[in-house]
Amino acid sequence: MSEVHENSAPKLPKNASQIRAVDVAVVGGGIAGKACALGLAQLGLQTIQISPDLGQAVPAPETGQWGQRIYAFSPGTKKLLVRLQVWDAIDHGRMQAVRDMRIFGDRGGKQDQLHLSAFEAGTSQLAWIGESNIIEYTLDQASRFQKKLERISDTVENMQVDANGVVLHLKNGSALQAKLVIAADGANSPLRADLGIYTKEESYSQSAVVANWICSNAHLETAYQWFLPGGDIIAILPLPNKQVSMVWSTSPENAAELLKLDQAGWSQQFSTIANGAVVTQLGTLTLNSTPATFPLRRIRASRFIGPEDNPKIVLIGDAAHVMHPLAGQGLNLGLRDVATLLNILSKRESFRPPNDKVLLRRYERQRQGDTSALLWVTDKLKKLFSASSSTEMQLRNWGLGMVNRSHFIKRRLIERALGDIDFE
Ligand SMILES: Cc1cc2nc3c(=O)[nH]c(=O)nc-3n(C[C@H](O)[C@H](O)[C@H](O)COP(=O)(O)OP(=O)(O)OC[C@H]3O[C@@H](n4cnc5c(N)ncnc54)[C@H](O)[C@@H]3O)c2cc1C
Repeated sequence: MSEVHENSAPKLPKNASQIRAVDVAVVGGGIAGKACALGLAQLGLQTIQISPDLGQAVPAPETGQWGQRIYAFSPGTKKLLVRLQVWDAIDHGRMQAVRDMRIFGDRGGKQDQLHLSAFEAGTSQLAWIGESNIIEYTLDQASRFQKKLERISDTVENMQVDANGVVLHLKNGSALQAKLVIAADGANSPLRADLGIYTKEESYSQSAVVANWICSNAHLETAYQWFLPGGDIIAILPLPNKQVSMVWSTSPENAAELLKLDQAGWSQQFSTIANGAVVTQLGTLTLNSTPATFPLRRIRASRFIGPEDNPKIVLIGDAAHVMHPLAGQGLNLGLRDVATLLNILSKRESFRPPNDKVLLRRYERQRQGDTSALLWVTDKLKKLFSASSSTEMQLRNWGLGMVNRSHFIKRRLIERALGDIDFE
């Protein structure tokens, strides 16, 4: 993509009437983009969603087969999906409620652990674990029946911002004009790059190995996380029917080795890591998917709207922020972007168009604090548990035990993890 052209001649079609005009264009076909496009159309805004992957319908999940991308969804995310009228349509037989979280330090001490309980926090569950596909499939079904929403399977190649909005040029040669553009185009966001928004990016020098397992012990609706000496982190998340999903954050070299393991190799790994605690909790683990790996990094865009002097584009989801998966919050944060935007647009004064500068600045202000806080905590936790000095080792393990003994801090932690969203 080229830079944003505010004054230079854009590549417009010769006949300007070829340009379709809409209220909003959502660029990106991930969960953040799909949820946002549906929500905007439900507000009565004429919406177009553009992404190269919208041509391939997400298939209905099949019994016995579990997708590779398994996420923890927060109660805040549930609230958004309820508002979008898709929560009840999700196949809840494929979602597992989490009632407890148990987090273990890397010293192996009995005190070095944190237990968060839904009952202790006065809520019925801390999160739900489910496939990315199951949410995407349900959003696709709802979008098919939304008259104000059109989807185009294509790539945005170029854009031009003017006083009225944004002209988007697609790979197929067509163009469209939108008053407001939502950049939901992921961690490498071409739109963010085009806007020239300063973005801080840091590699964690880690990859996540993800795989699903059948466990011989009951998982007790508990999400487990072990911090291991050297900075590795293993999260085991419960799925229905004695299944669990693993996210093992490790060095890229070890990740490559883990991908080569057969069942016997994995059993050997589990018998030794965390002094065998994984096997003690979950019993024998039998591989139930092809393991996959994802690079881990932290990304923070300095601005969530652009261009600076004439904002017409809003960044949401991974286009705005990417974090380490240790807290299982990346997508939940992106969906809080969506909820905030929908809130602001639904309550806008009647004289304000959806691309009004005041509204977009309101969005940016509201999202900056939440994003900075979550990125900061996740990053500091990751680094504290990777540090090799004995002082830091003592500090982190003592910290887990200390938090565990404080009902007050635990409640605050759970409140953050629930990621509540207010819809007025
Ligand atoms: C191992 C791992 C575990 C995780 N676990 C959790 C978890 O438990 N809970 C949680 O909340 N989060 C989790 N996350 C984070 C989560 O995966 C991401 O935050 C989420 O997938 C981002 O969604 P998105 O819609 O913003 O972006 P994406 O899903 O990346 O979508 C971007 C879209 O933009 C499209 N696109 C790109 N360029 C263009 C263009 N030029 N024109 C048009 N379209 C374009 C792409 O085709 C794609 O459809 C995890 C991440 C990892 C790596």
